[in-house]
Amino acid sequence: MVERLMAEGNDEHLAKVGHDAPGWIEVIAGSMFSGKSEELIRRLRRARIARLRVQVFKPEIDLRYSRDHIVSHSEMRHESSAVRTAGEILELVQPATEVVGIDEGQFFDNDLVEVANTLAARGVRVIIAGLDQDYTGRPFEPMPQLLAVAEYITKTHAICVRCGQPANYSQRIVEVEGRVVVGASETYEARCRRCFIPHADTPTRYPEEP
Ligand SMILES: [Zn+2]
Repeated sequence: MVERLMAEGNDEHLAKVGHDAPGWIEVIAGSMFSGKSEELIRRLRRARIARLRVQVFKPEIDLRYSRDHIVSHSEMRHESSAVRTAGEILELVQPATEVVGIDEGQFFDNDLVEVANTLAARGVRVIIAGLDQDYTGRPFEPMPQLLAVAEYITKTHAICVRCGQPANYSQRIVEVEGRVVVGASETYEARCRRCFIPHADTPTRYPEEP
């Protein structure tokens, strides 16, 4: 537990949020099973230990484990509110809130970038976790845009189930079409660049392209 509470790498700004402090955006990005939610929960817990006022949101599409908590694969959890759109987050953040956590950022609309910028401009520390690539290896909006505007970026890695190297890709292992298939270990596995097979397991179409 003590190790969990220790800062690692560039994951956190050393300044304190408060009335005069500027806000900022932290992004935790990586593949499935890379510990993104776990890292988000760890930072939120530390913020609460520092007696900061924290609010947490997740997209309503992701109610796999719980309606009112974000839950990591390792069963860590933190209270959260489910919202339909990024805009709803702005409506729900209270004036006194100092830290806003957002899980599964890739399932939000592109307004999430503007929402994060607006909150940060207000002095809020915004921490967003999300999948940076879809199952074909393409950047998963709005995560690329969030990575661009964030002050702090942490890239998390899983372990490739084939070879044991650090894994940066989410291999879909069932035959389902569509970009969004919410699932866990029976639907995806972590793979490294060499073991990742972008299109082999499922037909890939990009309906948004001509
Ligand atoms: Zn591998």
